[in-house]
Amino acid sequence: MGKLIIIGAGGVGNVVAQKCAREKDVFSKILLASRTKSKCDAIAANIGQPHVTTAKVDADNVQELIQLFKSFKPDMVINVALPYQDLTIMDACLETGVHYLDTANYEPIDVAKFEYSWQWAYQEKFKKAGLMALLGCGFDPGVSGIYTAYALKHHFDEIHYLDIVDCNAGDHGKAFATNFNPEINIREITQKGKYWENGSWKEIDPLSIHLPIEYPNIGPKESYLLYHEELESLVKNIPTIKRARFWMTFGQAYITHLQVLQNIGMTSIKPIKYQGMDIVPLQFLKAVLPEPSELGENYTGETSIGCQIKGVKDGKERSYYVWNNCKHQDAWKDVQGQGVSYTTGVPAMLGAKMMMTGKWMKAGVYNVEECDPDPFMKEIGAYGLPWNEIVNGQLAFDDYK
Ligand code: NDP
Repeated sequence: MGKLIIIGAGGVGNVVAQKCAREKDVFSKILLASRTKSKCDAIAANIGQPHVTTAKVDADNVQELIQLFKSFKPDMVINVALPYQDLTIMDACLETGVHYLDTANYEPIDVAKFEYSWQWAYQEKFKKAGLMALLGCGFDPGVSGIYTAYALKHHFDEIHYLDIVDCNAGDHGKAFATNFNPEINIREITQKGKYWENGSWKEIDPLSIHLPIEYPNIGPKESYLLYHEELESLVKNIPTIKRARFWMTFGQAYITHLQVLQNIGMTSIKPIKYQGMDIVPLQFLKAVLPEPSELGENYTGETSIGCQIKGVKDGKERSYYVWNNCKHQDAWKDVQGQGVSYTTGVPAMLGAKMMMTGKWMKAGVYNVEECDPDPFMKEIGAYGLPWNEIVNGQLAFDDYK
C-alpha cells in the first residue's frame, strides 16, 4: 500500500484516477495534479472520495514537481500528461525517491521524433537510487508488449514475426477528432512509417502501405502501417524477431481531413508569426479540436487491439493471435470516458498496482515485456479488458508467404 500521484487530467488521467481510487488497499492516498486544476477538481468531484485530492502543477518545471512531491510524499507517480514531460517527471522522481510509470515515450516538443534512448539513458540512475521506472504501460505501448511476453512465455520457443493490429471501429459523431491528445496523435501519424525486418529498420512514406485486416467481431478494416514505439523495445528485448510491424485503422474521412490539414500547413510544428506572436500551427489546431475526454458520451462501436505472432514451438511452426475488444459504451458506463482512454488508463492502473504490490518491482528502467506477464494477464480481464487467444487458428491477415 502506498501514496500515488497522477499527473495529467485529460481523457486518460480521468480513467486512471477513477480506477486507482477503487483500489484503496493499494493506493491509500491519491493526488491528481495537472496544468489546469479545474479539470482535476471535476474528476475528483465525480469520484467523490476524500482520499483523492487535487493540485496544480506545471510538469515542464522540475522544481515545481519536486516541491509537490516533497509535500505529498508519494511512493509512485503515474505520468499521463504528455510525452514532453517524461524526463522532467523522471528527474523529479530521482530527486525525491519516487517510482515512475508512463504510457508514452519521451519526445522533444520541437522535433516530431520519439524513441526510447532518452529514457533508457536513465537506467543507471534509477538502479543506483533503488527506484523503478516502467515505460509504456498503456495499451499500445503496454498490453501489446505484455501480450508478446505472454506469447513467448507460454506458446513459443522463438518468435519470428510480430504484427500489432489496432482497430478503432467506433463512431464519435464528430467530423474530425483524435482519440488521444490531438498534437501527439497527429505528430505520430504524419511521420514516416517504419518497420523492423531482418536486423534493420525499413522506412516508408506516411500511410503508404495498407491492407484490409479482419478484426474479431468487427470485420475487415483498412489498416495502415505506422511506426510505433513498442517496436523499438520489443525487437531489442526479443532478438529472435525477424519482422515487427504495427498496423492501425483509419477511416477515409479521417485521412481526407488529415491530408487537407497537412496541405494547408496546419499540422506543422514550426512556429509562425501571427499578429506579432509566435504560434505553432499544430498547437493552434489542437485548441480548436474536441478534447479526447469530450468524446465519450455518444461514442458507439468498439476497439480491437491485438498481437498476431508466428514462430516455432518444439520444432514446429506455430501461429498465435491474442486480442482485446473494448466497447466505447462500456468504458462510458464504467468511468465516463471513451474506449481509447479506457484501454490506456486501465493497464496504467494495473501496472502501477503490479509495482506497488511487489509483483513487478525492481530497480532500473524497464519496458513492460521485461516484467512477468502472468500476474497482469490474470487480473486485466476483471478490470474491464478481457482477452482472447487462438493458437494455430484463424489469423487477422496472412501475408507471410
Ligand atoms: P489529453 O490531451 O486529454 O490530456 C493530457 C493532460 O496532460 C491534460 O490534462 C493536460 O493539461 C496535461 N498536461 C499537458 N501539459 C502539461 C504540463 N506541462 N504540466 C501538467 N500537465 C500537463 O491527452 P490523453 O489523456 O488522451 O493522453 C495522455 C497521455 O496518454 C499522452 O501522453 C498520450 O500519448 C498517452 N496515450 C498512450 C496510449 C497508449 O496506449 N500507450 C494511448 C493513448 C494515449 P491541460 O488540460 O491544461 O491541457
